[in-house]
Amino acid sequence: MKARGTLVAAFGRQYEVRTDGGEILLCVPRGKKSRFACGDRVQVARSAPGQGVIEQLEERGSLLYRSDAWRQKLIAANATQVVVVVATEPSFSDDFVTRCICAAESQQLKSLIVLNKADLPAGLDAARTLLAPFAALDYPILELSALHDVDALRARLKDETSLLVGQSGMGKSTLTNALIPEARAETREISEVLDTGKHTTTFARLYDLPGGGGLIDSPGMQTFGLAHLDNAALEASFREFRPWDGQCRFRDCRHDSEPGCALRAAVADGRIAPRRLTQFLELRAECEQARKTAQGW
Ligand code: GDP
Ligand code: ZN
Repeated sequence: MKARGTLVAAFGRQYEVRTDGGEILLCVPRGKKSRFACGDRVQVARSAPGQGVIEQLEERGSLLYRSDAWRQKLIAANATQVVVVVATEPSFSDDFVTRCICAAESQQLKSLIVLNKADLPAGLDAARTLLAPFAALDYPILELSALHDVDALRARLKDETSLLVGQSGMGKSTLTNALIPEARAETREISEVLDTGKHTTTFARLYDLPGGGGLIDSPGMQTFGLAHLDNAALEASFREFRPWDGQCRFRDCRHDSEPGCALRAAVADGRIAPRRLTQFLELRAECEQARKTAQGW
């Protein structure tokens, strides 16, 4: 008997699929090469009680993955929004935020920055300063305290499928548990099913939110390699660069030191934040290096 469903957890070569009828099936893919991501819509054939085989993948609305020179890892399919969690303390990296936003932009997804631990005011000003370039670009920033009140975030997650990302210590687990009370318990159950407790923190899971919408939690994501974005895609993922696309004197301008560079002129005019151009150049160098390494140069 076949069924359609949503892939709600991915661990190695095994996947948990929730059928549209609400049944949970532990599934393996039919083909050896197929790769699936949390959030994928699939068709499965039941193979044994509680088990199935994924026979077909339905078209994806979006696909988020991270990549470096050595591997590509699918993170989430069909997400509509990327939510990046930062905090007033410990200090966070604006580079990580930029990467998350680039990943979202490259798939035409919304971005939302959550500034957590607003109840710890010591680091608040520094955090706001670091986030100012993103605020200037109209990326929404929500200040809250995961320990006290997550209602404002709940409202932003309604009717979206959100990928939640953050460096460790920012309070992502606290947020997840506040939003989805059963999250902690579910993680435990899966580790028992697989009999490998040590893997519990390394796989992504899609949760239904009580108020509507879905949340994809992808633990252990401390880096967000964008090597899969070519230079044009990376450039386009910096939204304020787009009006200058094609405006440089040289068609193949690298925005380094070429004369007549429109992007550098925009920085000089104060229309593009210097930090953003620096980040773009650094990211581009990293992505180019990763692709060279991948090709064995
Ligand atoms: P994760 O590594 O991002 O999952 O971070 P955790 O959720 O484990 O949180 C890291 C630490 O920050 C824990 O000690 C939490 O109790 C604390 N924390 C999380 N959210 C808040 C918050 O809103 N306010 C305060 N004061 N502490 C928080
Ligand atoms: Zn240029």
